[in-house]
Amino acid sequence: MKYISTRGTAPVLNFEDAILTGLATDGGLYVPESLPTFSSEQIAGWAGLDYPDLAFEIMYPFLGETISEGEFRQLLQETYAEFRHQAIAPLVQMDRNLWILELFHGPTLAFKDFALQFLGRLLDLVLERRGQKVVILGATSGDTGSAAIEGCRHCENVDIFILHPHNRVSDVQRRQMTTVVEHNVFNLAVEGNFDDCQNMVKAAFADQSFLPDGRQLVAVNSINWARIMAQIVYYFYAGLALGSPHRQVSFAVPTGNFGDIFAGYLARGMGLPIEQLVIATNCNDILHRSISANDYSKQDLIHSLTPSMDIMISSNYERLVFDLLGRDGREVASRMHAFKEGQPLQLPQAALNDARVLFSSARVDDQQTVEAIRHQFEKTGYLMDPHTAIGFEAGRAAVAGQQSPMVCLATAHPAKFSEAIEKTGLPVHAALPHHMVDLMQREEQFDVIANELPEVTEYIRRAIG
Ligand SMILES: *Cc1c(COP(=O)(O)O)cnc(C)c1O
Repeated sequence: MKYISTRGTAPVLNFEDAILTGLATDGGLYVPESLPTFSSEQIAGWAGLDYPDLAFEIMYPFLGETISEGEFRQLLQETYAEFRHQAIAPLVQMDRNLWILELFHGPTLAFKDFALQFLGRLLDLVLERRGQKVVILGATSGDTGSAAIEGCRHCENVDIFILHPHNRVSDVQRRQMTTVVEHNVFNLAVEGNFDDCQNMVKAAFADQSFLPDGRQLVAVNSINWARIMAQIVYYFYAGLALGSPHRQVSFAVPTGNFGDIFAGYLARGMGLPIEQLVIATNCNDILHRSISANDYSKQDLIHSLTPSMDIMISSNYERLVFDLLGRDGREVASRMHAFKEGQPLQLPQAALNDARVLFSSARVDDQQTVEAIRHQFEKTGYLMDPHTAIGFEAGRAAVAGQQSPMVCLATAHPAKFSEAIEKTGLPVHAALPHHMVDLMQREEQFDVIANELPEVTEYIRRAIG
């Protein structure tokens, strides 16, 4: 399988190089040159497979020849053995035609574990083979950092450095990162905000000369192709459980960077009969504005009750735009350059119409989010985290008048985002699951660091020296 850049001029890479590279040299994102597709008969034959075996069928065609079938099966078994539900991604029925897909049974209680538990092991396997070591550097306001750290803590060939804004992440979020005490895990609390952290990460990727020879930086945000690929699996898993390929299914997805829902789009391209994909945003609604009003334009960031969806621009949207523009890399590049200069990205009417055949969108603000959590809890006793509530609210509205079942992706456990739960005024407390009850007592390890790039690069150099 070959990987090409959405902007058309960067070198074509194989799978391994694609996952070890951040952005392409032309500023684009890597995508497979073509998608593997499966017939209805093939998909029907997967009914009843357990999660790791299904993951093998879906992901193996994306890989290069260097990873053997046996190795890859074993890697997937180990990855999903870390999850604390036998079904890995269980479905919960909420109404006749409305379901929740619980994606929060991994080690850090958010759906990012699906991809990052996998990515850590995959990198280690590939690097071991090459006799190479890498440095992961990322900035986080919460979920990505903890999932990446858990995914890499046992890697022999990876050192991981995660920057978070000092005193600006919740106690649970911080402790999920800082209580992982390993020789290759480094938590840096930056005296600045999340944007400062992210800007330093970008600058470090742009100039990696501070690293010793032979080392390189690897990205763990969703620009990394392996993350998207791993997320395709649960769309098939849910679809099969609900009668696909003989029956259409729809999904509602709480979205920030357009990574999770883009995986759903790929599942459809590979043969899963998806009728509708509902893009659910919070008040940072650039994606909703793009689909509903053809207005993909940057607006100020609003801090919401759903911090994992607080974004100004959705980096993975470029991967969809690439397809919508007929995979014309030059066209994507010129439009993205204009966007960077401050112009809104407008899709040609035909492309927008194409997108709307599959995608619809909704914006759910904080007040509606809190209301949705309260309403469902009072009605059914089911407690949703606020990100999940956004997808559920959008899915519930969209399912009216449609035949296929609507599956709403539950992206986090409610105990991770207790602030929103408290705002409901419900007499309920979302308890951490059993394996984490002592999180607040565990020993923490992190270093506070000035908001200065040279301090960060020097820290990394010394730590891996
Ligand atoms: C990361 C995250 C999202 C958004 O996912 P994208 O792939 O960026 O769209 C939604 N909910 C939770 C809980 C998350 O951690």
